[in-house]
Amino acid sequence: MGQLRTALEKILPPERLCEREPMRQHTTFRTGGEASYFLRINTREELSAVINILQETGVPWIVLGRGSNVLVSDLGYDGAILQLTGEFDEIRQTAAQELTVGAGAALGQVALSAQKLGLTGLEFASGIPGSIGGALIMNAGAFGGEMAQICTGASVLDEEDRLLTLDRDAMAFGYRTSSVKGTHRIILSATLQLQQSSPEEIAARMEELKNRRLEKQPLEYSSAGSTFKRPAIEGYYAGKLIEEAGLRGFAIGDAQVSEKHCGFIINRGAATSAEVYQLICEVQRRVEASSGIRLEPEVLTLGVF
Ligand SMILES: Cc1cc2nc3c(=O)[nH]c(=O)nc-3n(C[C@H](O)[C@H](O)[C@H](O)COP(=O)(O)OP(=O)(O)OC[C@H]3O[C@@H](n4cnc5c(N)ncnc54)[C@H](O)[C@@H]3O)c2cc1C
Repeated sequence: MGQLRTALEKILPPERLCEREPMRQHTTFRTGGEASYFLRINTREELSAVINILQETGVPWIVLGRGSNVLVSDLGYDGAILQLTGEFDEIRQTAAQELTVGAGAALGQVALSAQKLGLTGLEFASGIPGSIGGALIMNAGAFGGEMAQICTGASVLDEEDRLLTLDRDAMAFGYRTSSVKGTHRIILSATLQLQQSSPEEIAARMEELKNRRLEKQPLEYSSAGSTFKRPAIEGYYAGKLIEEAGLRGFAIGDAQVSEKHCGFIINRGAATSAEVYQLICEVQRRVEASSGIRLEPEVLTLGVF
């Protein structure tokens, strides 16, 4: 790894090149072991150069957003985690009702910028703690809105370091998925099409949705939001199935099915990723036994479980 560090030092300054980085500091579950490397990438040139080195040295890598939908193994990640910062945080108004936003930008920040410009359409996303990149990968959604409704295209770096522009069709958004999910492609930026409205009305809607989240969701605890996807069968909800299986408040160690919202697995304080993972499996098993429905996790795992 010494050789790798020397090569990376030629591209990144020391403050953006971290070794043995605790992933609990970069995930909303606040769990997980160390990543061998944690690299903050500020430009497209840095990104291509870093990936080139990682491929040449055979070091596995992944781009992480804000870590709000991932569970990282307690054993950590034996590879490099790349986070897009610097120019990837930019939010620009590129037409009267259009924003072009970097993949690293926080959804909440983008929603706030849109509100100030009097552009409506992103209110649903204001309380989702992810990045634009993660939101596109997951087609994040809430309160009847989802990224698919507003994203008209994305700029993507493919496996051969080619820059692609994917339109909405090519992004193939589905329920908590897109064509880029599960590939080694990297979202660099997105174009969002919004509508004109008044900043006051948008702010009021954002406030209303924030209060609905505060009322229903256990935001006082660390979590990754809804742990499971909504089942494909109409009218079924993960939280309700979990509650009906008698699992409200059920815990393994410090990982617990939230008392407030059964669809959330929370970290009560000192949970390990193994506890969260075991709880996910146990919830799946018991819900299947009681309802016949197999819940599929929405949360993604990274590393060995
Ligand atoms: C309190 C709370 C509430 C939540 N509420 C909601 C909700 O209402 N609706 C909802 O849909 N989700 C919700 N979530 C889940 C989560 O915030 C979303 O899934 C979000 O879109 C994930 O974004 P992220 O940047 O954190 O992605 P990460 O968790 O960092 O990564 C998710 C996946 O995307 C990949 N990825 C990230 N950025 C890129 C990129 N630039 N290029 C390529 N791949 C990339 C990662 O490799 C990983 O596979 C909630 C989470 C929490 C903690």
